[in-house]
Amino acid sequence: MFPSARTAPPPDRRPAGVRTRAWYLAVGGVLGLVYVLLPRGPLAQGMFVAIALSVPAVGLVARRRVQAAGGPAWAVLGAGFALAAVGEVVDFGVVTLAGHRGTTAAIDLIFLTAYIVQLCGLMSLFQAHTVSRRRFGWFDAVAGAVVVGTLVWTTMYEAIFGNGRGTPLDLITRFGGAVIGVALLVTALRLVVTTRGRLGAFTLLLVAFGLQLVMDSIGALWRGYAPGSRFEVLWAVAYVLSGAALVDTGDTTTMRQAPTRQASVEIRHTLVLQAGVTLVLAALIIVEVGSSIPVATSTVWACAWVVILVVTRVRLFGLLRMVGAASATENQLRLTAMVAGSSDVIGLADPDGTIRYLTPSIARLTGVAVDQWIGQRFDLVLERHLGGIDDLAVRCANLAPSDEVTWECTAVAPDGGGARTVKLTVANQTATPEVNGWVITAHDITDEARLTAELRHQSLHDTLTGLPNRALLFDRIQHALARMTRVPDARLAVVLVDIDDFKAVNDSLGHTTGDELLRAVGQRLAASVRQGDTVARLGGDEFALLLEDVDVAEAVALAQRALENLALPVQIGTADLAVRASAGVVSQGAAGDAVALLRAADIAMYASKRDGKAKVSVFDDAMHETAQQQLELRMDLTRALERDELRVVYQPIVDARTRRIAGCEALLRWQHPRRGTVSPLDFIPIAEQTGHILPIGAWVLRTACFEAASWSGPAATAYISVNVSAPQMADEGFVDLVLETLADTGLAPRRLLIEITESMLVDDTEHATSALAVLRARGVRVAIDDFGTGYSSLAYLRSLSADVVKIDRSFVHDLSTNPDHQALTRTILTLAQGLEMSAIAEGLETEADFAALVRLGCPYAQGFLFSRPVPADALAALFAEMTRPDEATTSGRSDG
Ligand code: C2E
Ligand code: MG
Ligand code: MG
Repeated sequence: MFPSARTAPPPDRRPAGVRTRAWYLAVGGVLGLVYVLLPRGPLAQGMFVAIALSVPAVGLVARRRVQAAGGPAWAVLGAGFALAAVGEVVDFGVVTLAGHRGTTAAIDLIFLTAYIVQLCGLMSLFQAHTVSRRRFGWFDAVAGAVVVGTLVWTTMYEAIFGNGRGTPLDLITRFGGAVIGVALLVTALRLVVTTRGRLGAFTLLLVAFGLQLVMDSIGALWRGYAPGSRFEVLWAVAYVLSGAALVDTGDTTTMRQAPTRQASVEIRHTLVLQAGVTLVLAALIIVEVGSSIPVATSTVWACAWVVILVVTRVRLFGLLRMVGAASATENQLRLTAMVAGSSDVIGLADPDGTIRYLTPSIARLTGVAVDQWIGQRFDLVLERHLGGIDDLAVRCANLAPSDEVTWECTAVAPDGGGARTVKLTVANQTATPEVNGWVITAHDITDEARLTAELRHQSLHDTLTGLPNRALLFDRIQHALARMTRVPDARLAVVLVDIDDFKAVNDSLGHTTGDELLRAVGQRLAASVRQGDTVARLGGDEFALLLEDVDVAEAVALAQRALENLALPVQIGTADLAVRASAGVVSQGAAGDAVALLRAADIAMYASKRDGKAKVSVFDDAMHETAQQQLELRMDLTRALERDELRVVYQPIVDARTRRIAGCEALLRWQHPRRGTVSPLDFIPIAEQTGHILPIGAWVLRTACFEAASWSGPAATAYISVNVSAPQMADEGFVDLVLETLADTGLAPRRLLIEITESMLVDDTEHATSALAVLRARGVRVAIDDFGTGYSSLAYLRSLSADVVKIDRSFVHDLSTNPDHQALTRTILTLAQGLEMSAIAEGLETEADFAALVRLGCPYAQGFLFSRPVPADALAALFAEMTRPDEATTSGRSDG
């Protein structure tokens, strides 16, 4: 089924070796033929010796060339053949050439040594090529030796000693030679068997040692055998085969044996030993019955020895197997139960893909029972019962041994629980002896997949409104921008929407209401845009719209519609709220990337806020410049105080009847090193945002109080008026700061007037009111600055606890000509009088306006008409001039 998996050929590692072996066999075959054809005599014998010598020679050459597996074992084997070749050379020299026939036994001793060395080499090879644990190896060896020895002894005794010609040396060489010859053959056989009968070096050796034993047996047992006959070509063949084995030892990778296979090997060994015992017994009977040779007694002992060994072995093996089997069965049962009970599906298939085992959980997953799977080809049935598996057969066929391939697919469970997400894995274990096939696992990852999707959704959406968050918006903007590079006509706009005064809602109605309001805003915005547009919440009360394929006009229209929708009252709890919001629009072209687009929209949105809120502004480059300047100012402001760039100037407040100075307002100036004088209107809002207003405000308060305390003469009773920002009032330490400053400068509390705006009292009523109450109790007076510009002022004035109201410049500057402003000013003055408050009119520039004001009965006035704000050192002269009785000043003195 999977051709590549089944026939993955072993890499051809030594083609050179194979070729050399073929050459060697060919040359050896020709030499053997020449040996047969040559007449018997020294020449033929010489040829024979040459063949024997070729074995260690090629062995040596081969070992130089490649470093074969099995290493030193092959070297030992080669040494054995070298010794044999030495034996042949000596035999040729002494027997064939010199004709000394009596020395054969001594030469045989050389051959015996050669055999022993060869056996050592072969056994080392066996050790090197099998890793199966052989618990009874030495039992087998000793028992085998006794069996073979006894057989050889009984069969050869007659041949060696029967006619009285044998010497002790003969006994050793013949008997030893036969026993070791058998041992060589058996060891070669085991090598071939345990390395799974691979054709190659071991097989060649097996045949060679077989021939060797046959020839030895013929030589020992055949009385009429004449050495040097053509028959001895079999020796030559044995040598050539041995040489061929040494030339190329082949791929002799270690083979592993599975435990079950090892057990069967053990059983086979036991059976072989039993056969050996049977043979020995048979020999004993034959010898006892048919011969008078006194071998019986020793044979009986040997037999008894073998029987004892075999019985012990069998008993021990049986016992150990019982113990092993018991624990193995227990483990097996446990494992089977675990696998079968697992919610995961585990399956095994044969190398050709036929499913042979599958856990019952497959039925739970697919609704198809296990027995309908068994015997089927997994590549066909899996694709039939699971959805979304691509190229299963192809991908499995391309899978290397020990590799695996994974799919995320779907299964429709039979319980009607809907589709499940399944992770399917197929592993190629065809090369693993314990498995020898395919391992299939399927794991239900539905919950995992759902969780992953949920986490992903959460990471990209706002939890409160469920709208896309900043990260997702960024992503969408980037995609839209990327699309614009491909589609020439594509356009996009980003609208930033920020709720006006959301903090007031949150603070006055609570966070729960605030959250509900935000949700409602999200819904209204989503309803205001077109399908496909993105509405995102960036955080707090800030939302963004991504509009694709709109021009600026369309984007503004959409933004306006959104603000109108927001303005419709929304019922939250018991409250009916109308949301006012400011918007900033930027269309692509104005800025390049997602970050720049959002920043531009933000700048435009702030422009809307500055313009009085509830507006839509479109970003332009001037805005960018303003924003840039503000940013610079913000940074410069951090060092303005420590670099001594701030100054306080003073503007007189005069008694409207006498035009004499009643007090002065302290006004802050910033001498910027590059920009020159910066207006407080430009930098105080920034200082309020950054918090710098706290140290700056404290400094102004101290400077002004110090200045006022130094006034003398007629100015000694004049008061100083100091502006205070909302963050200063909100600060916990504000009351202490004021009282400490008064104490430090020695200024009487009655001479300090604090100017606040009405919005500060409206926004943060409790804290501000209580702080002001404390200060007022100490004698400090409070003025409401810029009165008339804020909330529904007139109605509020009653509830505000203040001593002075400062009527805003916007009503005063055209008082003589504008009847509406006259009416308003009159109302303020009447109200103030009723509340026992004093009043100051701000921004008087003309005599006409002043005359109108005096007619309305305003007690105090301030403006360029009397004096521009002046530095402290110019104050003394101003005081001297403006406190002279009955002196009218008609023109303002300038200083900014
Ligand atoms: P404000 O408290 O209403 O101060 C009066 C502003 O009107 C001053 O502007 C003053 O120069 C200006 N002014 C006075 N007479 C006339 C006039 O006849 N015509 C016109 N057109 N303007 C006149 P300035 O000094 O630029 O201050 C602006 C605002 O900055 C102040 O308004 C006040 O709200 C704030 N401010 C100034 N100094 C401080 C300070 O030390 N702390 C705080 N928190 N705010 C300050
Ligand atoms: Mg003021
Ligand atoms: Mg004012």
